[in-house]
Amino acid sequence: MLKVMKKKLLVVIAMLVVASGIIFTGSTSTKAKDNDVKYLGKYKLTAYCGCRKCSGKWGARTASGKKAKQGRTIAVDKRKIKLGSKVQINGKTYVAEDVGGGVKGKHIDVFFKSHKQTKRFGKKTGVKVYKVN
Ligand SMILES: [Zn+2]
Repeated sequence: MLKVMKKKLLVVIAMLVVASGIIFTGSTSTKAKDNDVKYLGKYKLTAYCGCRKCSGKWGARTASGKKAKQGRTIAVDKRKIKLGSKVQINGKTYVAEDVGGGVKGKHIDVFFKSHKQTKRFGKKTGVKVYKVN
């Protein structure tokens, strides 16, 4: 009899712990809603523009249908980052709104309006990337 009571008590305690956990995480996520960032790992960054060499027939039109914009548009691997996601790189927030044949895995292609700027950007590795909610 005593054994059964103990078991019941343990279940009640366990339920209370779970419930308080839900309340706790719930309140923290609402508090941090505007700057809720998730570390995605270290990425390789390259740059592209709307020129024929970079984008072929696509020009500055992105996979999401919008016109690519410097300082906002990045191309990602959809399996890693969902299109429409806000992505933070070096303190700046971009939007994943394009894809690219050469953009696979932990690789992000950053859009620039001129080819000269893509050359200047070059290639960067080991860049910490965050997803912003
Ligand atoms: Zn180009």
